Parts: sequence; structure tokens; C-alpha cells
Amino acid sequence: MKKLNFLIAFLFFLSQYAESNFYAPAINLIMCDSRENCYHEAAHKYDHLMGDISKTQEWQQAVEEYRSTAFYGYTDAKDVPFEKVDLVFFPGIGREKIPDFNPFNNSFGGWGNYTEFYATVSEYSNGDINNIPENLRKFYDMNEIGKIVKGLGY
Ligand SMILES: [Zn+2]
Repeated sequence: MKKLNFLIAFLFFLSQYAESNFYAPAINLIMCDSRENCYHEAAHKYDHLMGDISKTQEWQQAVEEYRSTAFYGYTDAKDVPFEKVDLVFFPGIGREKIPDFNPFNNSFGGWGNYTEFYATVSEYSNGDINNIPENLRKFYDMNEIGKIVKGLGY
């Protein structure tokens, strides 16, 4: 009976997994179903390969700086196609995390935080460094991230 419960749980888990966009570092696998989502997942991979940029204090300070300037409107990223509100009030940074469980996005206990912020900025950039707020650009190599996206067929 225990084995059956485990099997059911595992199958449920797989079915969730199949519908998602994700990057699984342990098996170096990205699944994504659109260019935007691939830029998100490719950024997770790049972040990981570069030794977790999103976990550094430099990144976290830069994000805080961006969020505070964007909040008060003092940002050069005003004219870019950015969903600024999403980034100012970002789960796990500017507001509570969405209570969901996804072991594949580096955020047990809810989606959000600095690692997801890193990937989401890449997602919104559409591959163009000019669409990234100026003070965050140095944390991205859009050529490298773009190569990963190309390799995924987008
Ligand atoms: Zn993510």
C-alpha cells in the first residue's frame, strides 16, 4: 500500500512536471514552450552555471536599488516593455510568495525571490539587453543566454 501511494504521488508529480516550464540542474534539462519561457529557464541555467549570480549580495543589492527607483519612477527603464509593477511587487521580495510548491524552480515553499527575479528579468527582456534595467545589465550575458535559447529551438 505504501508503494502504491508513492507511485500515485510520483505520477501526480510527473503530470505536474510535464505541464511546466522548468530547468532541472541535476539532469541539465530545460523544458519550455515559448520564447519568453525559454528566456526565463535559460537564465536559470546561466545563473546556475555562473555560480548562482542571483544568490550574491551584489545582485540582491542591485535588485533592491532597481525596485526602489522603479517604485518612485526614477528609472531609465521606464520606456522599455517591462512589466514594472510585477518586478516592484515581486513575490518573495516586494510581497508575499505565491503559496505553491515547485521543487524545480529553486524555491521550495512558494514561487519567487531573487533567483526567480533574475530569470523573470531575462524573460521580459525578449533577449535584448536594452530591455533590461541599466543597473542590472552587468549580471546578464544575453549572447550566452541567447545561445541556450537557440539550442532549445526558439
Ligand atoms: Zn523560474
